[in-house]
Amino acid sequence: MISFCATELEKKEDKKVSVEVDETIELFDDIKSSGNTTGIANFQLRSNFIIITGDFKSPIKVSCDRCTKYYELNLEFKIDEVVEVSDEPYPSGDVEFVSDEINEQIRSDEQIGLEDYIRQYIILNVPTKKICSENCVNEELNDFNEKSGGIDPRWEQLIKYKDKIKGE
Ligand SMILES: [Zn+2]
Repeated sequence: MISFCATELEKKEDKKVSVEVDETIELFDDIKSSGNTTGIANFQLRSNFIIITGDFKSPIKVSCDRCTKYYELNLEFKIDEVVEVSDEPYPSGDVEFVSDEINEQIRSDEQIGLEDYIRQYIILNVPTKKICSENCVNEELNDFNEKSGGIDPRWEQLIKYKDKIKGE
């Protein structure tokens, strides 16, 4: 997988590299890769920061919240991350609040792997409500309704009321 460190970027023209990404990303049990993640990744060293940007497409399979079947999703996302490069040891005393923009600190010879970022962004981009289609119905719920006579409980009261009127 693609990775760079500050020392390598220092030697590149304009201290930056652009790489084409076409890789299988190992994911999780409930979010599976269904094809290669493609895109362009840019690594740039600016003073003591590495800026990682890029546009990616990831085809994945997720489990539907209603019917639990797996269905395909094509995620598209942009990565925009800043990593601080420092060979100073981490402060052991009070840890001061660091700006949100800076997510990590690494040594100049430490490799930044792109895969971890792609994985993080895939998780961030998976919708919280995962429904395979607008018409998806929970089969278990359907079965239950059929067994109980197929009557929506909200109608039951009305039907009872109607029968009562008829009876009078
Ligand atoms: Zn479904």
